[in-house]
Amino acid sequence: MTIYNFSAGPACLPDPVLSVAGEAAKEYKSSGISILEMSHRSAPIVSLFEETSHNLRTLLSIPSNYKILWLQGGASSQFAMIPMNLLPEGRTADYMDTGAWSFKAKTECNKIGTANVIGSSKESTYSYIPKDIEQNIASKYLHITSNNTIYGTQYKKYPKVDNPDGFLVADMSSDILSKPINVSDFGLIYAGAQKNMGPAGVTLVIIRDDLVGKNYREIPTMLNYETHVKKDSMFNTPPVFSVFVVNETLKWLKDLGGLESMAGINERKAGNLYSEIDRNPLFKSPIAEEDRSLMNVPFIFSKDGLDDNNFLQFCDKRGLKTLKGHRSVGGFRASIYNAMPEEGVDALIAAMKEYKV
Ligand SMILES: *Cc1c(COP(=O)(O)O)cnc(C)c1O
Repeated sequence: MTIYNFSAGPACLPDPVLSVAGEAAKEYKSSGISILEMSHRSAPIVSLFEETSHNLRTLLSIPSNYKILWLQGGASSQFAMIPMNLLPEGRTADYMDTGAWSFKAKTECNKIGTANVIGSSKESTYSYIPKDIEQNIASKYLHITSNNTIYGTQYKKYPKVDNPDGFLVADMSSDILSKPINVSDFGLIYAGAQKNMGPAGVTLVIIRDDLVGKNYREIPTMLNYETHVKKDSMFNTPPVFSVFVVNETLKWLKDLGGLESMAGINERKAGNLYSEIDRNPLFKSPIAEEDRSLMNVPFIFSKDGLDDNNFLQFCDKRGLKTLKGHRSVGGFRASIYNAMPEEGVDALIAAMKEYKV
């Protein structure tokens, strides 16, 4: 039986990527040693990092005035690093509160400076993305979470920043590389790898070069973007194996035809699943239609009194794994990132059609 893993993160990776990762763990490039044992200063690893950044730059069409960093500490460390590095003393930043992760991001900002929450859908369990927002013209940046992994909402159009010398910052942990984006609309983009790009342990930061090295305050060395820019993400021992797997995922995406092709597949997968949720009288989506995520699809029983575990077990027996909704939402959540094959989504739809209560 084919197993499909609908986990929200760490999430499924393409099969060919996993095979190559298994090989590299045994032996890297006919060197007789595992990639896990190799010095990050060795020529093959230095060129691996160059190649990975090059592949990312090509896939996302990242302009030359943006730096690419491969860091540790997860997206969660970026919640603090962003205000530490980018928010001058006495200035404010605007934050959209569209889910648990954006809420944590603004909470960290408040330890460094002042975060203004300019829009929140918390009162409706984050079931939509507030659109009528009023920005503070003096705010240094606007922070958004492009895709809300837990609640299943996603920006379809990014807000423009009102402050002429302000900039947009986006947490793209759960939808990076799912479609083409215009990188120059952002000052900084960040993403933990383990949703849509690779394994846990590496965090991507794409930063416009004029934002690096401002040093508005004393910043610990490891938390200063400038440190990592100057040393090409090799200031200290980087997560080599995670970067290797990211690079294999980038190559897989390129072979698939790049992000336009990937976006087409993602639209089809999500479109089919939402159609079934809307058609099937047993299920419904708690999310505003125009904000529905193409990556994380939460759904619930349309009637009270039905047992979630019964449907989860029904799916589990068919090899459809990790469909339980986040504990704060309940119900079900199908994470259908890039690496989830269309057959996996079709198998879930078939299970929904056949399930009887
Ligand atoms: C998972 C997730 C995070 C947290 O990532 P870590 O790498 O575990 O710190 C942050 N933001 C979003 C949108 C996420 O999906």
